[in-house]
Amino acid sequence: MAEKIKSLEQLFLHQLKDLYDVESQIIKALPKMAKKASSSELKKAFEIHLKETEEQKKRLEECFKELGEKPSAAKCAGIRGIIEEGEELMKKLEEPAMDAGLVASAQRVEHYEMAAYGTARTFASQLGHEEMADVLQEILDQESATDEKLSQIAEQELNQKAAAT
Ligand code: FE
Ligand code: FE
Repeated sequence: MAEKIKSLEQLFLHQLKDLYDVESQIIKALPKMAKKASSSELKKAFEIHLKETEEQKKRLEECFKELGEKPSAAKCAGIRGIIEEGEELMKKLEEPAMDAGLVASAQRVEHYEMAAYGTARTFASQLGHEEMADVLQEILDQESATDEKLSQIAEQELNQKAAAT
């Protein structure tokens, strides 16, 4: 039987386990997206975020350690669905829509992460885990910066493509 969640502490731990699965799934998805990207800037943005994501996973491991828990993942059906949709879209994408489609999928991922990290940070702070709250805020800032970078690349690309026609 599934373990019951009664306290905010247990709920916080569950959110961390969920995020641990989220980051693991994204680590598998990003190289495929980088490979498909046609603009070198977008490719680079995916590669940089892959490195950050690997780092984020390690930082989550530190949070588990801090709580005296072993790192473990709780299957996150939400991120799996978002990634699966992205993969379906990727199969259909052709030039000149490729990069705009990749950015659209990636931004859904980043926004999902931003929502989850915002909640986890607030829980950490309410539970008095101030250091963890800071770590989770830093990860949230990375996701948000990635989202902005993706918007910037997409707008630039669209402008260039519009200028070329
Ligand atoms: Fe992440
Ligand atoms: Fe991310």
